[in-house]
Amino acid sequence: MGKINHTCLERFLRYVTYDTQSSEDSTSFPSTEKQKKLAQALVEELLEIGLKDAAMDEWGYVTATLPATVEHKVPVIGLIAHMDTSPDVSGENVKAVIHKNYAGGDIALSSGVVIKVDENPALKEQIGHDLITSDGTTLLGADNKAGIAEIFDALHHLVAHPEIPHGTIRVAVTPDEEVGRGTEHFDIKAFAADFAYTIDGESLGEVEDETFCADTVVIQITGVNVHPGYARGKLVNSVKLAADFIDQLPKDGLSPETTEKREGYVHPHIINGNVETTTIKILVRDFTLQGLHEKEAYLEEILAKLLSKHPRARADFKIEESYRNMKFELDKKPRVVEYAIDAVARAGITPKKNIIRGGTDGAKLSYQGLLTPNIFTGGHNFHSRQEWISIQDMQKAVQVIVNLVQIWSEKYKQ
Ligand SMILES: [Zn+2]
Repeated sequence: MGKINHTCLERFLRYVTYDTQSSEDSTSFPSTEKQKKLAQALVEELLEIGLKDAAMDEWGYVTATLPATVEHKVPVIGLIAHMDTSPDVSGENVKAVIHKNYAGGDIALSSGVVIKVDENPALKEQIGHDLITSDGTTLLGADNKAGIAEIFDALHHLVAHPEIPHGTIRVAVTPDEEVGRGTEHFDIKAFAADFAYTIDGESLGEVEDETFCADTVVIQITGVNVHPGYARGKLVNSVKLAADFIDQLPKDGLSPETTEKREGYVHPHIINGNVETTTIKILVRDFTLQGLHEKEAYLEEILAKLLSKHPRARADFKIEESYRNMKFELDKKPRVVEYAIDAVARAGITPKKNIIRGGTDGAKLSYQGLLTPNIFTGGHNFHSRQEWISIQDMQKAVQVIVNLVQIWSEKYKQ
């Protein structure tokens, strides 16, 4: 395969100038109308690249098709990235700064923000590379505009080189991933891919095939409210019972702030109430279903003990399912992840399988029948003013995408 005449940098620098921050508070879809401005520009770019059916639907999803260059039957492969940026940090008026030929050391941005090598050991592998950051007043938006730029660059290369064998490729750019609603109006049937990949990971070489199993436990404690002046022997204060419950959670383990890697946690994150009723919402996370259920049983046990001390209080214990580890689905067709690993290796990079301590749109799609592992973009420090990405790693990601569609075609050739 010939050398790629990359367009990902110029595309990326263009996309980050669009403010596409999504919103947690909005009930409309997309959550912010401004995302559609970038969506419209992306449609234009896809048409320019030569994907004739490129279009944005009423919800802001951008889709397009690159027809196959081979005669034999190959599964239709979807490539997915998201256009929104995190509500955590401003994405307005992003000024990308290119640090050419990085010499090592901390990177001081003009706003005073410093990207420290101590906190970014991955910088040690970037000596001599060209790094992109913001000016430190906003996030950069590599999450996930780098993914869009890389997919589009790969498409551009494939159109310019019809001799590269591949099956039909479907592309989707989705809104509202950062607020957990990226698949809300995604029409899987119309997308019509057999397998897909999100290009939304971080470090070079990573392929992610595992997410948490996630539930929310909702506990509603009901006490007895009486005028406090005449409450002796009558009042049962649900606020105090809730505080007692929280106090009995382990202090040195089982929390997001004390766990890492494959450890799960319970995380009380919302508490709301008054003397009469208090509601506690607890996020429960684990990589296995057994671990998830054990944690839930443990919470229920703490609650039962508490109630036994306060016979006149009542409580309701409810489990709401959020999402499941996508590995359970992906393991049914291991080749989907294997080919991604092969594509990374073929680009001369050491593949790294990684777990995601969270959920992804890919996990949701995988459970809706479209297996969708996640591939690196080359970005780091997502959702922060210290976000950075290397141009050379972006180009490697493009190479991986090109390799990937080619590998699918090779594997299905008899
Ligand atoms: Zn992302």
